[in-house]
Amino acid sequence: MGAVKKFDAIVIGGGIAGASVAAFLADDGLSVTLLERESSLAYHTTGRSAALFTPYYGPDSMRAFGGLSRNFLESPEFDSEVEILSERKTISLVDKANSMTVDRPPKSVWLDESEFLNRVPFLKPGRYVGAVLDTQVASIDVHALHSVYVQALKNRGGKVVTDAEVTKITLAPSDIWEVEAGGQRYESAIVVNAAGAWGDEIAKLAGISPIGLIPKRRTIVVVSSDQFDGINFDDLPFVIVEPDYLYFQQFGVGQLMISPIDQTPSVPCDAQPDEVDMAVTVARLEDVSTLKIKRIDHSWAGLRTFSSDGDPVIGWEPEVPGFFWLVGQGGYGVFTSPAIGRYAASLISSAELPYAYKSHGFPFESLSPDRFRLDSLVGFS
Ligand SMILES: Cc1cc2nc3c(=O)[nH]c(=O)nc-3n(C[C@H](O)[C@H](O)[C@H](O)COP(=O)(O)OP(=O)(O)OC[C@H]3O[C@@H](n4cnc5c(N)ncnc54)[C@H](O)[C@@H]3O)c2cc1C
Repeated sequence: MGAVKKFDAIVIGGGIAGASVAAFLADDGLSVTLLERESSLAYHTTGRSAALFTPYYGPDSMRAFGGLSRNFLESPEFDSEVEILSERKTISLVDKANSMTVDRPPKSVWLDESEFLNRVPFLKPGRYVGAVLDTQVASIDVHALHSVYVQALKNRGGKVVTDAEVTKITLAPSDIWEVEAGGQRYESAIVVNAAGAWGDEIAKLAGISPIGLIPKRRTIVVVSSDQFDGINFDDLPFVIVEPDYLYFQQFGVGQLMISPIDQTPSVPCDAQPDEVDMAVTVARLEDVSTLKIKRIDHSWAGLRTFSSDGDPVIGWEPEVPGFFWLVGQGGYGVFTSPAIGRYAASLISSAELPYAYKSHGFPFESLSPDRFRLDSLVGFS
């Protein structure tokens, strides 16, 4: 093991959460190192998402962060000129039973059957009374967004270390964290836990109680249009079959990406698609459409990790100096990453938050891990 490397902050996890907070911390003037276990960044959940910006989806906390992220996604900070967003309308198909309860985001439009069949001609007619067209959704270039953060971090002197699995985290009596990763020792007064599905494992390594994170597996199946006569997936919207039955969208050139919207609890792992979930995906697509699937071209699964109340966990571990939680982004961690990264970095570096956060009205401080430590707080009083 070489000489100890010292930083103002150590960020564990090279997905979108770790990369974004590391970039904003470096922008606030801190020296930062980002430690990632895998040989490439964004290998786990971040590289496996449906890549959508859906500001009216998820709990209020994520809708708040989604709204606050819009400016960054439309025009990224950090001197970057890349295009992150591209147009992707969403339609949610509803049958009679769900027509009154389906979400209708602001500026959404109701489509009758002829209008939605015009956009998705291979749906079976006569099944749905209509569809909600959400015009405020967009596709995200996740790789480009992640690269904006990583480049910003590096441009500000930050370090990115891959093949660096954190295996030991010790708090020295001086309140400095000693971290071992990939055969190297690091020291910092601040450790940021952005390890996604492994968030509780990182806490345990540091001698801190887990908060009960629940990783949930979601499956994606990809089929190519060349197996269907005369079907073209170009310009297809993102289609959701309510309630939580199926979604699909155009993917790459001439391909369709389909998910059965599964959420099967899992241990933290390199998630793989399950044969039964893939079969269910195919059966549901054939149920709602005239397509007959002869071949699955590609598939994957990813873990969407939730806290027990469904909100993200962003804040300092109470009673332990310098341990910061940034986990539990569930199915919303990509599109909210600009605002969550900025918010988390401000708590860590004490930088002032942009006015938009203060005027927003959402109680962001309620997302702190304090809410899972009530027993110990009661015990203290
Ligand atoms: C199928 C699917 C569809 C989705 N669709 C969307 C969508 O449309 N829009 C959206 O915003 N979100 C979506 N999400 C959710 C989004 O992908 C996640 O919220 C986000 O990627 C979580 O990022 P993360 O950085 O927390 O986790 P991860 O990307 O998993 O990163 C955590 C990292 O920590 C590393 N790590 C763990 N332990 C250690 C250790 N001991 N040492 C070093 N490194 C360690 C891991 O290797 C991993 O790279 C979707 C997710 C899935 C699975």
